[in-house]
Amino acid sequence: MAQVLINGEIVTRIDAKVDIEDRAYQFGDGIYEVIRVYNGICYQLEEHIQRLERSAKEIRLSLPFSAEEFTQQLQELVKGNQLQEGIIYTQVTRGVAPRYHGFPSDDVKPQFVAYTKDLPRPTAFMEHGVKAVLLEDVRWLRCDIKSLNLLGNVLAKQKANDEGGFEAIQHRGDIVTEGSSSNVFLVQEGILYTHPASSLILNGITRVKVLELCEKLELIVKEQEFTVKDLLDADEVFITSTTSEVMPITQIDDQPVGPGIPGPLTVKLQQEFVKGF
Ligand SMILES: *Cc1c(COP(=O)(O)O)cnc(C)c1O
Repeated sequence: MAQVLINGEIVTRIDAKVDIEDRAYQFGDGIYEVIRVYNGICYQLEEHIQRLERSAKEIRLSLPFSAEEFTQQLQELVKGNQLQEGIIYTQVTRGVAPRYHGFPSDDVKPQFVAYTKDLPRPTAFMEHGVKAVLLEDVRWLRCDIKSLNLLGNVLAKQKANDEGGFEAIQHRGDIVTEGSSSNVFLVQEGILYTHPASSLILNGITRVKVLELCEKLELIVKEQEFTVKDLLDADEVFITSTTSEVMPITQIDDQPVGPGIPGPLTVKLQQEFVKGF
């Protein structure tokens, strides 16, 4: 029986119960992280916990555990479930209280849960590339917070799925922001471009890792805005995320990207990324 973490305790899945008055359930009032596990080891766990702490601070939620305690508990969970290749999902909510928009009183404790899931690396997709669809970014203006409020992202991903796509690439007016759960890069004449880390995108840990790899490979990257037209005219496009790693986009709506196969710099970054775990 799978084990899950609930408020610092490891229990079997069936014994983990949440309250219908949890503020995540009423308001999406909480934050989350998705962490990769490769060969039984949590990948970039420290970075994920740091980002969770940042998200918590931005929504004025005080986390129930220290970074050390989180680390220890999540590693114990992975071990308990004998997870080799998969993910940890973890979320913290503002707690259980009668429904009222304003914060509950200080004695209401945040609720912390985590569980694991077997998830193979999407190797076939990474090799052949996937389709993305374009749509207007209608989300709020604090996309830098990994918040449980995901309706905009949910509707975007569903549009992609409805049209046979893997991911939705969002734009505010002409400016491309990010995917529904990934960051977007393009390559034009050997130079990489990605939206700057601002309040309009979630600064992905994979995004930052790819920026580091570019530096190591002496590739030029410009963290600057680019347009939908730039995207459609690009030589290469790829997205990055914890679960998708470096994923080539070979088609956008009905148009191929470049020659319609994963481009050389995308493949080079994929190879370099794999060396890191
Ligand atoms: C989580 C997420 C990403 C990717 O972040 P990683 O840390 O690389 O997994 C990008 N955009 C959004 C909206 C996200 O929620």
